[in-house]
Amino acid sequence: MAQYGTGRERMVQEQLRNRDITDERILAAMLEVPRHLFVDDALRGRAYGDHPLPIGAGQTISQPYIVAYMTQALQLTGMEKVLEIGTGSGYQAAILSRLCGQVYTVERINSLLAGARKTFDQLRYYNIRSKLDDGTIGWPENGPYDAIIVTAGGPSIPEPLLEQLADPGRLIMPVGNQHVQDLQLVEKREGQVAVETLASVRFVDLVGEHGWSK
Ligand code: SAH
Repeated sequence: MAQYGTGRERMVQEQLRNRDITDERILAAMLEVPRHLFVDDALRGRAYGDHPLPIGAGQTISQPYIVAYMTQALQLTGMEKVLEIGTGSGYQAAILSRLCGQVYTVERINSLLAGARKTFDQLRYYNIRSKLDDGTIGWPENGPYDAIIVTAGGPSIPEPLLEQLADPGRLIMPVGNQHVQDLQLVEKREGQVAVETLASVRFVDLVGEHGWSK
């Protein structure tokens, strides 16, 4: 629908290009994926705004800029296998699916996962596999992953995720307390792990065995 297309073009120009999102593949993916289909009908008019939005069950879809920023940090080139923890609306997974070979995504809340799966089917994004589970233990059967993205904030990087990260590989996750976190970028290379702190962010809780207990 034209009304949403215009909103999407403005989002890409004003919120992404005019800031520091320079990867043309990411800009193209964010222009292509209909973000309004990942939020409730009543919120569609606000889908392209410069802010997160509620998606039910007390969770949120991240601000478009944060989705682009975290994706850019992964430096995907097209053939990678990527693991996402925290499917939520499915929007971040959808963006990843345009930029890599295969996406695996894990969500702990059934109603959210069901909604995301419907949208993936509707859009025919067939290179996304998803499951209901505690993502802090990863998805070992399909690893190692060239990139891992955690879209909920936890007290530390879950050890199983570091183990399931390929070498070379990149992992991004918000790490901090339950109010504010630092985006940490982990780079594994030749058996060594380097951690870099990027930006201060606010995410919902990562709840699980290697996350918050509630
Ligand atoms: N990437 C999502 C953002 C959703 S918010 C999007 O694009 O919409 C973070 C999500 O992480 C929530 O849906 C929450 O239920 C989920 N989550 C929190 N802890 C989790 C865990 N241990 N395993 C899997 N998902 C988790």
